[in-house]
Amino acid sequence: MRKPFVAGNWKMHGSKASIESLVDGLNAQAGQIENVDMAVCPPAIYIDFVQSSLTGGKIAVGAQNIAEEPVQGAFTGETSVEMIKDLGCAYVILGHSERRAIYGETDAQVASKVKVALDAGVTPILCVGETLEERESGVMEKVIATQIDAVVDVVGIEAFEKIVIAYEPVWAIGTGKTASPEQAQEVHAFIRGKLAGLNAVVADKVIIQYGGSVKPDNAAELFAQADIDGGLIGGASLNADDFMAICKAA
Ligand code: PGA
Repeated sequence: MRKPFVAGNWKMHGSKASIESLVDGLNAQAGQIENVDMAVCPPAIYIDFVQSSLTGGKIAVGAQNIAEEPVQGAFTGETSVEMIKDLGCAYVILGHSERRAIYGETDAQVASKVKVALDAGVTPILCVGETLEERESGVMEKVIATQIDAVVDVVGIEAFEKIVIAYEPVWAIGTGKTASPEQAQEVHAFIRGKLAGLNAVVADKVIIQYGGSVKPDNAAELFAQADIDGGLIGGASLNADDFMAICKAA
C-alpha cells in the first residue's frame, strides 16, 4: 500500500511575516493528520527559517530546485544539494514546468539533477506534464514518456523507488482549471503502466502525486483515484487551512 504524500510548492512567495503566520497555522493543525506524509517547499532563502519554525515533526521541508553541480564552487546564485541537505531538506522539486518553460531546463538537465539529489540522499519530486497544445494535438503520452525516459536513462528504473513523480498538466497549474479526476487518473495509470513495463515491483511502489489547481473542494475526488497518491499543491499551500484540508483529504 502506498502512503499518500502531499507537498506544498510555495514557489516565489512569502516574507518572514507571512511565513511565520503560515507556519503557525500548520503547527496548530498538523498533529490532527495521520497516515499522510507532508512537506512544504519554501523559497530557498526561507528554508532555514521554516525548518526552525515548524514544530511537531510531522511536516518535512523540501527545496524547489538545486544546481546540477553537486558540490560547492564558483556558481554564483546557485544552491547545491549539499546546502539544502545541510538545512535538513528531505525533498527537492525538480523539473517543475515553470523551470522548464521559463528557465529552459531540458529533460537532460532535469535527469542530471535527479541523479545529484539521489546521490545525496534527498528525494526528488520529479514533475512531468503536458501543455494544452500537446494534449490537444495527441502527443501527451509521448511528451510524458520522453520526460520520464530521460530520467530512467540516467538513474535506472530501480531508482524510482526513491523518486516521487508529480504529474502536473501545465494547463492546470495556477489556472483554476483542474484536470478531472478521470483525466488525471488516466495519465497516472499511463505513467505507472509505463514504469511497470520496466519493473512491476517498482511501479507498484512509486508515489505519483497530482498537481494543478488542487483545492480543498476537489482534493478528495482526485485522491480517491486508484493511481493518485497525493498532490503537489501550489496556490492552496499558501493558506494553512486550505493546505491542511487537502492533507486531510489524502
Ligand atoms: P497550483 O500549482 O496548485 O497553484 O496550480 C501547482 C504547482 O505548480 O505545483
